[in-house]
Amino acid sequence: MTAVFFKKASYEYDALRPLIFDMIESAGSCVIGRDTRVLIKPNLLLPARPEKAILTHPLVVKAVVEYVLEHGGRPVISDSPAMGSFEKILKEGGYADVFKGVDVEFKRFETSAKIDIGPPFGKIEIAREAMEANSVINIAKLKTHTQMLLTLGVKNIFGCIVGFRKPEWHLRNGIDRDMFATLLVKIYAAVNPCITIIDGVLAMEGQGPGKSGLPRPIGIIAGSSSAFALDRAICQMIGIEPDRLPTNKAARQLGLAPDDVTVQGDFEMIQKFKLPDMGKVTFGPKPVQRMIRKHLLQRPVVDSSLCELCGECWRYCPAKAISRGKKRIVFDYDKCIRCYCCLEICPQGVLRAKETLPGKIIRRLSLRDPA
Ligand code: SF4
Ligand code: SF4
Repeated sequence: MTAVFFKKASYEYDALRPLIFDMIESAGSCVIGRDTRVLIKPNLLLPARPEKAILTHPLVVKAVVEYVLEHGGRPVISDSPAMGSFEKILKEGGYADVFKGVDVEFKRFETSAKIDIGPPFGKIEIAREAMEANSVINIAKLKTHTQMLLTLGVKNIFGCIVGFRKPEWHLRNGIDRDMFATLLVKIYAAVNPCITIIDGVLAMEGQGPGKSGLPRPIGIIAGSSSAFALDRAICQMIGIEPDRLPTNKAARQLGLAPDDVTVQGDFEMIQKFKLPDMGKVTFGPKPVQRMIRKHLLQRPVVDSSLCELCGECWRYCPAKAISRGKKRIVFDYDKCIRCYCCLEICPQGVLRAKETLPGKIIRRLSLRDPA
């Protein structure tokens, strides 16, 4: 029987700390002893203040670190951010302040080990620190995601792909949402965290997971030894069918989602949780997919009046579909694979996905009641 725990919570540390300790104990899946090297993987996507709800809140991470220290382990906090220096993220995200005087190492993922995650991907490069740690503790943020609907426990482990390799995987799989979900599930299974904790105290809804998303207070911390079980329970909490989340569907199809799940604690349905606008990323027969993608799928657009031409989007774009014009950025929609990475990383939150007119007409026609 796999248990998923829900606890009402705030960022008031005196209450949060015992709650996290209790959750790790109750899951009973992390063996931490003297000198155990424990890799802690929060969501450190980009420089952002805690009230933006982009990063895992530092106090949630601090409670996990203190649990590890109390059990004699050696905690290391790592991630591979999409943009910005690691130091800037730690400073702006409140980590530098919260962890003053705490005996923990911060280390950006830098080197990879080749790990066979099975077909169709074969050997892929995953952060060496994550693969060589004695235990991995995964601490995700409850956020929406324009490409993958939500980013929860399974998706958080994609951060164990070292920086420059991430856009490459988006390019290879980003236009096929189901294939990308399968990749995420297999990476999670390879890293195999002993527990996943989701920070939903201040969650994000709308056009997440970057600065275009909207913070939404939910007041929940959830955890489980299985992120597959946990992510399904979170979907139920926000009122969506679990298989709508592509990673949930992929995990079930791969036989990795546990059948026997018990949900314990303060589980309550959250009303009117705003999901991102998501179009299909591929449809139609292969020969016409390029044409369909160009004309029918949601495309990234910019609010040029707010764009600072900082270059983050064109440097990150895996398809090299963004360039700098004289006064504004320019998209090449022929090249664009609709991975929406640029929306994720824009530090100003001035990019969004916009439906095309033909796409809108087709969607409306397809929704009409044939009767
Ligand atoms: S759209 Fe965003 S990331 Fe791209 S140049 Fe403008 S501000 Fe920078
Ligand atoms: S323009 Fe944006 S959505 Fe298109 S491929 Fe580049 S990063 Fe992805």
